[in-house]
Amino acid sequence: MADIFTPRKRSAVMSAIRSRGNKATELRLIAIFRTHGITGWRRHRPVFGRPDFVFRALKLAVFVDGCFWHGCPIHGTRPKQNAAFWRKKFSANRARDRLVTRALRFNGWHVVRIWEHELRVKNETRLISKIRRHFAAAA
Ligand SMILES: [Zn+2]
Repeated sequence: MADIFTPRKRSAVMSAIRSRGNKATELRLIAIFRTHGITGWRRHRPVFGRPDFVFRALKLAVFVDGCFWHGCPIHGTRPKQNAAFWRKKFSANRARDRLVTRALRFNGWHVVRIWEHELRVKNETRLISKIRRHFAAAA
């Protein structure tokens, strides 16, 4: 795919990107997919930014973002110890998320970012609507 970064920037971006998502949240999303008859996904495909799930036919990438690491506006806690370190860490994570999303969209991908808290049972109906909206847009 076309590269929008310089090799140096690319290297920094790639090394910062986590190799694997969170297992528990991924399994939870798989359970939701199964419940709602959503098929066609693959996990951990070698796609830029390492999406947690990819729907290849739709060129749709799904990321599940942990509320803590990705600085959820509702649940992102701000540790008091080493506050400066954490502030920097969270802000770098968010910047990286935005960059990955932009780069994928630039290359014709549809991107769905799901917060960990959206996986809760009480939010399931809303989450499924969100996913289906993205499917419709990608189809
Ligand atoms: Zn959250």
